[in-house]
Order: sequence, then structure tokens, then C-alpha cells
Amino acid sequence: MNRLVVVVGGGAAGFYCAIRLKELQNNLHVVLLEKTNKTLSKLRVSGGGRCNITHNCFDYSRLSTHYPRGAKFLKKAFRQFGAQEFVEWIQSHGIQLKTEPDGRMFPITDNSETIAGFYENYARKLGIEVLRNSSVNLIEQNKDLFTVKINEQPDIIANFLVLASGGVSDPTKVSWLQSLKLDWIESSPSLFTFNANKELKPKLSLLSGISVPNAKVKFVGQKDEFKGPLLITHWGISGPAVLKSSAWMSRFLKERNYQHEILISWIGEIKEEETKRILSEFFSLHSKKKIENAVPFDIPNRLWTFLITQSQIDSNAQVQTLSSKNFNRLIENLIRFPYQINGKTTFKEEFVTAGGIDLSQLVDETCEFKAIPNLFACGEILDIDGITGGFNFQAAWTTAELVAQGITKK
Ligand SMILES: Cc1cc2nc3c(=O)[nH]c(=O)nc-3n(C[C@H](O)[C@H](O)[C@H](O)COP(=O)(O)OP(=O)(O)OC[C@H]3O[C@@H](n4cnc5c(N)ncnc54)[C@H](O)[C@@H]3O)c2cc1C
Repeated sequence: MNRLVVVVGGGAAGFYCAIRLKELQNNLHVVLLEKTNKTLSKLRVSGGGRCNITHNCFDYSRLSTHYPRGAKFLKKAFRQFGAQEFVEWIQSHGIQLKTEPDGRMFPITDNSETIAGFYENYARKLGIEVLRNSSVNLIEQNKDLFTVKINEQPDIIANFLVLASGGVSDPTKVSWLQSLKLDWIESSPSLFTFNANKELKPKLSLLSGISVPNAKVKFVGQKDEFKGPLLITHWGISGPAVLKSSAWMSRFLKERNYQHEILISWIGEIKEEETKRILSEFFSLHSKKKIENAVPFDIPNRLWTFLITQSQIDSNAQVQTLSSKNFNRLIENLIRFPYQINGKTTFKEEFVTAGGIDLSQLVDETCEFKAIPNLFACGEILDIDGITGGFNFQAAWTTAELVAQGITKK
């Protein structure tokens, strides 16, 4: 009799895993269970509907540095199957991809439906049984078989079980997995933007839409610094530097109820002494200019005017009238602008859950549970999450590939 694999979760990891199982061993019977009436929902809305499917980072070691949690595990896993292998695989199935200047990769159509449609059609062609409206309520383990109990449907007895049911915001509430007694790492949201406090918000909202190419965010009292473009929004700040810091500081911020002071440098890497030198030289060359028109750095004029005002300087005054006290205040606001984080807002283009299944329970090469043979897990249910840029999908493809290889080897 053909061996039966049940994959729980009709998302990115579940589909890719089911497909690879059939590709590697066509005589396996693969059933994919999805609790809702729609598969691949997250993938469809991903990347603002464009699906940022992976990142053009083909060095496995460098690729793993984009994961605040799971980097060590993934560094090994990417050796087995990284971004390059995934790109080759999907292109060999006729899906054309394009790479944006920042390295993010999308289907050439700029439409996530291209990917979702491909997965669903290919799964059908391979004979994978996709059962929608099939929420797994309970798993029972009897020797080396799993009884999968689904709402209002007959039980399924599986030889192999793959957990691919996505991120879990509260592990204590995943009742259907409780009988397996898994170890979980506490969850926290990742990839969000920082709301401003009520004094700053009205001022920043006037600057909404302004972006700075090379900003730096530093958490007060911490050594961590995050560099990259920064965007001012109606409610606070966003952009790669902020999203990256929300990922690395996910647990830290959760513990502080999303209240903490950060210092923003609007000019990124430029050190204090260098900033002073550039500003003094520029000001001495333009001593008769109005301060608001004397911008020596790569920052928008409106932001410069805002920083001048925040430094209690009259923006219409001539440069030569600037006191050394005001000069120093301006330097402070340029490189250590104090910003009190006051809550968070979900970044609509991508968000994930940090935390999940503790990786120490898994065999590195296969994502099989060491203590429960024939039980596997992949995707966001694991304690793995990446920064924005296609890294979260890549972790799903990689871990799902490991599972597919692991099962077929058995
Ligand atoms: C708005 C948004 C945009 C994103 N954009 C990107 C992007 O562009 N690039 C990127 O790399 N990442 C992106 N991500 C992150 C990425 O979507 C996830 O990391 C990825 O989808 C995880 O795949 P998964 O299969 O593990 O989980 P999911 O895609 O969440 O799939 C899990 C599935 O399991 C089902 N399920 C859960 N419990 C059960 C149960 N008991 N029984 C049966 N089925 C169950 C769920 O209904 C769901 O369909 C985005 C996330 C969001 C929210």
C-alpha cells in the first residue's frame, strides 16, 4: 500500500512540501489539509499583491544573516537548499522571476496570482489531494502512525505528518497540537512600524511621505544599530531601517509594551566629528544664506527645516548668526534625534510571528522531531523569522524542501 503523508496547512510551506514530495517520490499518497476555504491566502496578499518570493542572495552564509531567529539552523539548511536552488527550481517550471535593485525577487508579472495559480494547478496535476475547510482538531499518535482528526470528517491515518500550519501568536492556544507535547519558544510580532508619541505625531504627519536614504536607528541603552532607508508616515516612522529593527528587537519591544526611546541619525554612517566638520565648512562657505537653504547633507529640504525648528533656530536667519549652542543642538538633532516609540502599526506588505516550535527538537537536515519519528515541521510554525525582503518565504521553501527530502529518504 502507498504510504500516506498528511500535510497540515495549505500555505506556502505546505504546498511546496507536498509538491516536492510527489516530485521526489510519485507513489506517495499526499493529502494537504487547509482549515479555511481558500489555500495560499497569505501568499496571495504577500508583497502588496506582488509576492516577494525570495531574495537574490545566493551565498548561504550571507543569506542566513537576514534572520533574527533561526540563523544558525538555516545556515546549514541553506547549504542543502538555498535561494539559488529555489530560483532554479521554480524557473525550471516556467515561472519567470525578476530582481529589483535592492535584491528582492518577484514573479515577472508582478502578480502573486502567478505563483498561487502555479502551485494549485501543479498540485492538482501531481495528484495531491487538497482538502479545504478541513481544520485539524486533534492528532493522536499510535506507535508509528498518526490519527489526524478533522472537523466533521472521517479521521485520516497517516504514516508521516507534516506541520505547516503557519505562525502561532499564542502556543498555549494551539489545542490540536497539545497531545504531541512540543516545546515552543514564546511568540512576538515582527515587522512593524513605530508610532510617534502625541507631541511628535502632528509635527511628523506634516512630513509624511518624506524618505531618507541612509538613516540609522539606535535603541537607547542598547548597542544595536539598524541602518537603511527610513520613511516618515502619518503616524510615525517606517521603511527598511525601522522594519529591520522591529524584527531584531521584536522580543525586547514586546517586553516593553512597545514603549522605548530610539535615536535617529538622518545621515546614517557619518560620525559626529565628521558631521561637525562638514557643517562648519559648508556654513562658512554660505554664511550669508538663510539657514533653511543651507543643506549640506542628502536629506530633503522639508526635513532640514523641521530639524532647524526642533533645534529652536529661526529658519529665516542667516547662517552667520548661528550661535555655537544652536549649532550643537542642530548636530544633536541630525545624528541623535530622540524618538519615543509609542506603540506599533502593522506593516501591511509583510508581517510575521517570531517564535514557534523550538528548533532544538528537530534533526537539522530533515526538520523531523528527534523524539517523535515521522513527525516533521516547516514554515513559519518554526522559531524562524526573517527581515522583510523575501527572506520569510525563502525559509518556508528551504524548511519544506528539507522535510520533503527527509520523508522520501525514509
Ligand atoms: C500581508 C503579508 C505579506 C507578506 N509578504 C511576504 C513577502 O512578500 N515575502 C516574504 O518572504 N514573506 C512575506 N510574508 C510572510 C509569509 O507570508 C509567511 O512567512 C509565509 O506565508 C509562511 O508560510 P507558511 O506556509 O508557514 O504559513 P501560512 O502561509 O500562514 O500557511 C499556513 C496555513 O495553515 C492553515 N492552518 C492553520 N491551522 C490549521 C489547522 N489546524 N488545520 C488545517 N490548516 C491549518 C492556515 O489557514 C494557513 O492557510 C507576508 C506575510 C503577510 C501577513
